[in-house]
Amino acid sequence: MTETDSTLARFAAVIGKQHVLTRTSETAAYLREWRGQFAGRARAVLRPGSTREVAEVVAICADQGLKIVPQSGNTGLVGGAVPQSDRQQVLLSLSRLNRIRALDAANDSMTVEAGCVLADLQQAAADAGRFFPLSLGAEGSCQIGGNLATNAGGLNVLRYGNTRDLVLGLEVVLADGSVWSALRGLRKDNRGYDLKQLFVGSEGTLGIITAAVLKLFPPLRQRYTALLALDDPASGLALARRLRADSGDNLTACELFPRFAMDIAVRHIDGCRDPFESPQPWYLLVELSSPAGGDWLESALQSALAQALDAGEIRDAVVASSLREAGDFWRIRENIPEAQTREGASIKHDISVAVSRIPELLARASRAVHRAEPALRICAFGHIGDGNLHFNLSQPTGADGAHFMTRQAEFNRMIHDIVDDMDGSFAAEHGIGRLKRDELVQRASSQETGMMRVIKQALDPQGLFNPGAVIADAQSDSS
Ligand SMILES: Cc1cc2nc3c(=O)[nH]c(=O)nc-3n(C[C@H](O)[C@H](O)[C@H](O)COP(=O)(O)OP(=O)(O)OC[C@H]3O[C@@H](n4cnc5c(N)ncnc54)[C@H](O)[C@@H]3O)c2cc1C
Repeated sequence: MTETDSTLARFAAVIGKQHVLTRTSETAAYLREWRGQFAGRARAVLRPGSTREVAEVVAICADQGLKIVPQSGNTGLVGGAVPQSDRQQVLLSLSRLNRIRALDAANDSMTVEAGCVLADLQQAAADAGRFFPLSLGAEGSCQIGGNLATNAGGLNVLRYGNTRDLVLGLEVVLADGSVWSALRGLRKDNRGYDLKQLFVGSEGTLGIITAAVLKLFPPLRQRYTALLALDDPASGLALARRLRADSGDNLTACELFPRFAMDIAVRHIDGCRDPFESPQPWYLLVELSSPAGGDWLESALQSALAQALDAGEIRDAVVASSLREAGDFWRIRENIPEAQTREGASIKHDISVAVSRIPELLARASRAVHRAEPALRICAFGHIGDGNLHFNLSQPTGADGAHFMTRQAEFNRMIHDIVDDMDGSFAAEHGIGRLKRDELVQRASSQETGMMRVIKQALDPQGLFNPGAVIADAQSDSS
């Protein structure tokens, strides 16, 4: 028996032979990075079914010097869940840890395993008469372990915060194979450092999240969606402020997109229809919602929109008259990335600045990229209520997509320099992964990367977890 065979046999003894995948036909789906930017390679894909099994797998890996790349739904956008070596790395899939362990409606919390699909958790909360607000385009496939590990943002951050704000407790398998069980449903707990927050957003580099206690909220009893036509992004911000104030701070989503995004969504995506009679320069999709009963939120929305029309903040507005129409508006917004893919090659940026500086960011970045390539098409959309934009660039019509992509580094530098100059972030919600690792080192202060390395070294001295992701160290790049 070779050394590889005996290691695989040890894994099989813990998790079952059928959950140790080595054939290409079995592993391909796990190793495929869906944007095609990274080719995945691993000695095996391991599918443990319980926290104990995860802990035993980690202990075997530590013993054998094998590195571990955790994966949940594999929807991440920065290559964080893609192993890079068929000799030294295994992919650890959390998908089989998919039980809801408990739901405590009186504590407004649920205890769930890392492999639960986000949409299933939203449904479980709804079935129990509660609301779990984390929501993003990938919610039918991404899993809560991945959401926690990336501190996912999404559509409701404005009101409910990032994933970080939705977690009360965690269970984590540490680098020595022990289980840190802190599945506490406490809203107040100041016993020293808040250790769970170290693991949230750590992208699998500090430990394997196996379960979490999540916050629940009262169910929504009023929900109104409107699509608004704007002259410019500054009007969108003025309107967002007005809606927040007039609705008693019940503006829960606020998504900006330009004419180009509407055009390509209508052109490429079935069921996408522009509800306005004429083309508009910019669009703002807003949602107001509240757990309070009645229909006062609708009156607040209508009156705020009437005042905004008078004040020239909006050109036109359509309030959805049914859930179906609201779904039609959201379909446009959620399909912008897919429509952009169908338009050819695109260069993407996930950036944030202070909310008040969004118009300045858009103006500066647009000027810069058009100076460099007048024919490229800007598709800047996103969560302006949080100061977060996906400043994406579509190749010029009819141009060679591959040639356009050779300019990726040039455009990334251009945009990220502007973001830095504005005290913003070049990695707003998707994380660092492998895609932006080198840039983190270049752009963060040495004080910040120094503290990150100290934390990594303290929690994962062997460099066992997710080598090559987030923060590079001497041991991380071996292949
Ligand atoms: C259509 C679409 C829309 C999206 N919209 C948004 C959005 O609005 N906001 C947003 O923030 N993101 C968005 N994303 C990105 C992505 O969905 C999120 O990053 C999501 O949180 C990743 O979850 P996942 O289960 O797919 O994780 P994966 O892709 O499997 O993993 C992501 C990272 O977490 C690590 N990891 C996974 N599971 C664990 C675990 N149990 N323990 C430790 N580490 C782990 C992995 O190693 C990897 O580094 C979108 C993606 C798509 C495809």
